[in-house]
Amino acid sequence: MEFNPNLKILLAEDDKINQRIMILTFRHMGVKCDIASNGKEALEMYQQNLYNLILMDMQMPVMNGLEASRQIRAFEKETGQINRVFIVALTGNDISDKKEECLEAGMDDFMEKPLQDKLFVELFSRL
Ligand SMILES: [Mg+2]
Repeated sequence: MEFNPNLKILLAEDDKINQRIMILTFRHMGVKCDIASNGKEALEMYQQNLYNLILMDMQMPVMNGLEASRQIRAFEKETGQINRVFIVALTGNDISDKKEECLEAGMDDFMEKPLQDKLFVELFSRL
């Protein structure tokens, strides 16, 4: 499956081991990735950089994934951005009961951990 070689991803994830794994995975795929360690950092980085995709962990200190997504959508609205960034929630386990809340917060899709490389290839080819 082919995907845009200029993809730029923002990974918002507080777990250092998950950060390392995903950096290596994306490097192997030739995709550029910046890291934010909490939702507040993710919001600030999004306000200053262009990304095709934000992978947003749900559980983070300082500001969680839901609140960060809400604030990112509010920022896009305030600044009149036409293309809203694609936000994928990264979740620890079954989130069937949280999906509604994710969508209401402005998230577009979900991925369950442990994350599988082939799902990233599928996701990237859609962007
Ligand atoms: Mg977390």
